[in-house]
Amino acid sequence: MNSTKPRNLGAILLMILILVSCKENSKPKLEITNKQENIKDETIHNLPPSEINTPDASKKDVGKIKNDTPSDLNEITEADGIVLDIKYAGKDNFTKRKIYDCARCFLRPEATQALIAINNELLDKHGYSLKVFDCFRPKSYQQRLWDAVPDPDYVTPPAKGSMHSRGLAVDLTIVDKNGQDLDMGTEYDYFGEEAHQDYQGHNTQVIQNRILLKSVMEKHGFKPIRTEWWHYSFRSKIYPLDSWAWSCD
Ligand SMILES: [Zn+2]
Repeated sequence: MNSTKPRNLGAILLMILILVSCKENSKPKLEITNKQENIKDETIHNLPPSEINTPDASKKDVGKIKNDTPSDLNEITEADGIVLDIKYAGKDNFTKRKIYDCARCFLRPEATQALIAINNELLDKHGYSLKVFDCFRPKSYQQRLWDAVPDPDYVTPPAKGSMHSRGLAVDLTIVDKNGQDLDMGTEYDYFGEEAHQDYQGHNTQVIQNRILLKSVMEKHGFKPIRTEWWHYSFRSKIYPLDSWAWSCD
């Protein structure tokens, strides 16, 4: 009799200890998640490993930055007369997180030449310029985007790969001679039918602006997609998904 009581007591104390330690373990996880929503420049590997989609775009890939630009990627700068407003290099994007370490624009040589020709044509004919929101997106940055929003309705799963990660897609709009965006009817990365190429509810000016962008892009070999007025792919040649990422000196 005397010996069972302490044993029961010991078991109860052990249960309490286990319960307390479980609770304590769960607290920091919640706090970390909440903090990550708010920390500036936080990137973004708080998903359990089971939800990370590809082994080749793992954490190890992030930050592996080479200084040399490969020969099959060209940089587009404002010296080309094209405005850079790389949204994922800041927090003004639909994830509300900084995804890229800094703002630079690279595309495959064929796509780069075509884009510069398009910009020259817009300048000559209208006094307009292109403004790019996103260009080549390294696989590691596609993974960061996926980690921020792991939903295939909004982000291409890294395993599938985006045309951006092949260096063949560009997101862009047109600005007038004062640098003002032409009205395209929605913001960049607006997810709704108003952003669709074939949406007919916009006013005449918006429709004309979209036609101008689409016609000049198509003339130089870019193809639109139905759901995003800003997204164009250059499909004359296919390149592999690419992990190279630019430096941010
Ligand atoms: Zn795009």
